[in-house]
Amino acid sequence: MPFRSIMPSDLFKCKQCGECCRGYGGAYVLSEDITAISEYLKVDENTFVERYCRMSGNRPLLAQVENGFCVFFKEDLCTIHPVKPKMCKAWPFIEAVLKDAANWHIMAGFCSGMRSNVPDNIIQKVVSKVISDRG
Ligand code: SF4
Ligand code: SF4
Repeated sequence: MPFRSIMPSDLFKCKQCGECCRGYGGAYVLSEDITAISEYLKVDENTFVERYCRMSGNRPLLAQVENGFCVFFKEDLCTIHPVKPKMCKAWPFIEAVLKDAANWHIMAGFCSGMRSNVPDNIIQKVVSKVISDRG
């Protein structure tokens, strides 16, 4: 396949291994994520942050349990899938790859769904298009 015709689905297909839900600093939650997840869990937002988040500076991250997995990863599934944080929904088409294509390869080191044998400029072009289409 010529590289110029590469589509997002050629670069990434989730294998549902759960590796991205384990460790690696945790998932940041934006205020809209907090609202959506709190409503989904039927708890108020303060309770959600107290019960399910930890702070990194002044930014809340989803907490991790003892095995290193996200607090919402249970029985190999994301239990808040419909409202999971924007950061989780966006993976692996994220701004950090536009800043430095090396980030794609670092992420691909543990995400078996990502293809990395593609030139960096093509990876960044596809990532940029996905981000811009997402709005
Ligand atoms: S690490 Fe990659 S392949 Fe595995 S669940 Fe996460 S996104 Fe899917
Ligand atoms: S919210 Fe869901 S997708 Fe995101 S890290 Fe937690 S379990 Fe994984």
